[in-house]
Amino acid sequence: MGKPTGFMERQRLSEAYEPPNDRLKHYREFVATLNDEQASVQGSRCMDCGIPFCTSGCPVNNIIPDWNDLVYRGKWEQALVVLHSTNNFPDFTGRICPAPCEAACTLNINNDAVGIKSIEHAIIDKGWQMGWIVPQPPKAKTGKKVAIIGSGPAGLAAAQQLARVGHDVTVFEKNSRPGGLLGYGIPDFKLEKSLIQRRVQQMEAEGVTFRTRVLVGSKELPPGIINDASEFISAEQVSNDFDAVILAAGSEVPRDLPIPGRELKGTYAALEFLIPQNKQVSGGKANPINAKGKHVVVIGGGDTGSDCVGTSYRHGAASVTQFELMPQPPEEENRPLTWPYWPLKMRTSSSHLEGDTQRKFSIATKELIGEKGVLKSLKTVELEWKNGKMREIPGSEHTFPADLVFLAMGFVSPVGSLLEAFGVEKDARGNARATTDGKGCYATSAAKVFAAGDARRGQSLVVWAIREGRQCAREVDAFLMGSSTLPR
Ligand SMILES: Cc1cc2nc3c(=O)[nH]c(=O)nc-3n(C[C@H](O)[C@H](O)[C@H](O)COP(=O)(O)OP(=O)(O)OC[C@H]3O[C@@H](n4cnc5c(N)ncnc54)[C@H](O)[C@@H]3O)c2cc1C
Ligand code: SF4
Repeated sequence: MGKPTGFMERQRLSEAYEPPNDRLKHYREFVATLNDEQASVQGSRCMDCGIPFCTSGCPVNNIIPDWNDLVYRGKWEQALVVLHSTNNFPDFTGRICPAPCEAACTLNINNDAVGIKSIEHAIIDKGWQMGWIVPQPPKAKTGKKVAIIGSGPAGLAAAQQLARVGHDVTVFEKNSRPGGLLGYGIPDFKLEKSLIQRRVQQMEAEGVTFRTRVLVGSKELPPGIINDASEFISAEQVSNDFDAVILAAGSEVPRDLPIPGRELKGTYAALEFLIPQNKQVSGGKANPINAKGKHVVVIGGGDTGSDCVGTSYRHGAASVTQFELMPQPPEEENRPLTWPYWPLKMRTSSSHLEGDTQRKFSIATKELIGEKGVLKSLKTVELEWKNGKMREIPGSEHTFPADLVFLAMGFVSPVGSLLEAFGVEKDARGNARATTDGKGCYATSAAKVFAAGDARRGQSLVVWAIREGRQCAREVDAFLMGSSTLPR
């Protein structure tokens, strides 16, 4: 520990954001990485408190106190090695992780947490700038072949780990570019797509084969799922051609809102708006949904909803309103009660601050109203919550103008027919059934088929997908070789 009194002498410094009026003119990232001096000062605030709750709060168990100290001492290259030892893609998590580590930081009990995520961001960006991040091809090949279905963070992490211990890894992806929701969901203003591309290039140099526009397993896709595939490969063929298979296909089935008027033109699942936008930003054709001058209502208060808010503002929406079924959480968490866990509190994203976002809580949408098949408004009712149960408040009905409604109420499960094609048993929520601990973890009920990420755990976070991809890779390696040197 470099500076025992750092946390008493130095204040937390958050990363600077480009002002909303400027960043609304483009889709690029707008967060400035801390410079070396700033990151060093922030690193010195780490108390090295003995029991690093931050490490257990972080789903990939990043060894945070060690790299905080190394950055404080200016030993950046070593900090990068420590960071990479637990996380394949800090370039993604350093930007878009909600940072449960900071909620768990001991300093967070009665002070501002160490800016862990901003230090992670600074380390990884410096690593790329300095040319320290290079392919790590295996010393020897095993001759074993692994198929990974899905190229989101779970599939990418599993692929990188398995390629580095010498297996021949092929990643199948139905869409045009690898990355899963990193590429085709999360907007460029949160994560620029060139960052995914450079990781894909690194992995190709390590021996991973990416086969994009290939749909595997089942051609039956529920509505609202993007599929750019020009080729289909059956589950049987993949199982015959490979020694092990990992299903890392995400949780793609969107939760719908089956109310009167759902069919009106102007009502879309969030990804029907966000995916074409990402494609447009990457040089594809214009997004067929344009929010310019429109009254936009986003139903759902999570990350996906927030991304619809930021994208609508960039289009020039006339107004943006966001609905959430749950009651408004407190502005500040009750720290003695919640620490070191992820607290319930009001969370305002950078997108919310890009305009006069009207956020409504305890509200349910009852009906979408249109004229000649086109959405014009929606009818809502306020809710009262008691003992975890909700009740509609009589007489609280209200009508909001709405030209566009984006349904951002989360995702139900992976595509059921894909799991069925591989003969994989589902859990009660329709996810691939597999445990994460003990003998046989990550293995599904089907021989040599494993599952990781949102396809196994349900809709979650990038950092959890990376953890599952890494841990699953270890199990697959042990299955193929009898034991594994990969970390868990
Ligand atoms: C709009 C949005 C914003 C989000 N923002 C954040 C955020 O800020 N921070 C955060 O931590 N998390 C965020 N998340 C959640 C995060 O993106 C996911 O939890 C994470 O990407 C899951 O990773 P995964 O690898 O399991 O699956 P995915 O990223 O969903 O990737 C699965 C891939 O499998 C492919 N696939 C599926 N079926 C087949 C098939 N049959 N054949 C071939 N390919 C197939 C899909 O096309 C997809 O590319 C967000 C999610 C959304 C939707
Ligand atoms: S991956 Fe997320 S939880 Fe882990 S150290 Fe980074 S910001 Fe914190």
